[in-house]
Amino acid sequence: MTRALILGGTSDANTLAAEIARAGVDAIYSYGGRTRAPAGQPLPIRAGGFGGVSGLANYIRQEGITHVVDATHPFAAEMSRNAVTACTETETPLIALERAPWAKAPGDHWIEVADLAAAVAALPETPAHVFLAIGRQHIAPFGEKPQHAYTLRFVDPPEGALPFEAEIIVSRGPFTFEDELELLRSRRIAWIIARNSGGDGARAKIDAARALGLPVIMIARPQLPERLQVESVAEVLAWLGHGACLGA
Ligand code: NAP
Repeated sequence: MTRALILGGTSDANTLAAEIARAGVDAIYSYGGRTRAPAGQPLPIRAGGFGGVSGLANYIRQEGITHVVDATHPFAAEMSRNAVTACTETETPLIALERAPWAKAPGDHWIEVADLAAAVAALPETPAHVFLAIGRQHIAPFGEKPQHAYTLRFVDPPEGALPFEAEIIVSRGPFTFEDELELLRSRRIAWIIARNSGGDGARAKIDAARALGLPVIMIARPQLPERLQVESVAEVLAWLGHGACLGA
């Protein structure tokens, strides 16, 4: 009997959960628990960390999990690394559902950097309007360059003070090309900092930056251990042995 654990928190994971429920596969959807009001799921959910590798391994054993699907965000590296180790330890098959990164297109002005520290270093010293399109848990290093006028966008209002002054927009995507053009123009943005998340939900800002000829400091994805990896929900369902139900 299949009993899948979906490590979620992304729109791809939500699509997968809907298809898994439709296919009648026994599965549990796990949230990291950072977002206050996660989207409802057609599957039983659990939320919050497992307690590292050992916590996840215990959970897999206790819940009789037969398959783990890592459908977390490409930058949720700690969870993904823990999943590889815990699945190896418990001999549980693991698959990662991970969308392809964005590829540079003609007209893009990307400065590609390896991590957050390199992104801070790539920003000029001269004060500028900067759209920091990254999660609030990653913004602290930009406090090193407080001369810039930062615009931040979060799903939830931040709790407590930010490490530097910034305009905060509270809004949940996806955002359209027009939304992003309006944001970039109205804030007179000169630099965009983004992570190469891939997918359609977050790419409008990249398209809008290209249209306006703005530079994007693009942070590359973290390196992860080797694992079985696919890009589509259909491939995950096939792996779970329920491919025929897709689109039925
Ligand atoms: P992370 O740094 O890789 O994870 C930190 C810790 O949070 C993990 O070690 C784990 O705690 C817990 N955790 C993360 N995802 C979990 C899940 N799906 N179920 C249970 N515990 C989870 O991850 P993150 O970058 O903070 O992201 C947290 C969540 O937000 C992820 O589920 C991710 O898919 C979602 N998300 C992230 C981003 C992003 O930009 N990183 C964007 C959109 C959505 P324990 O070690 O205690 O098990």
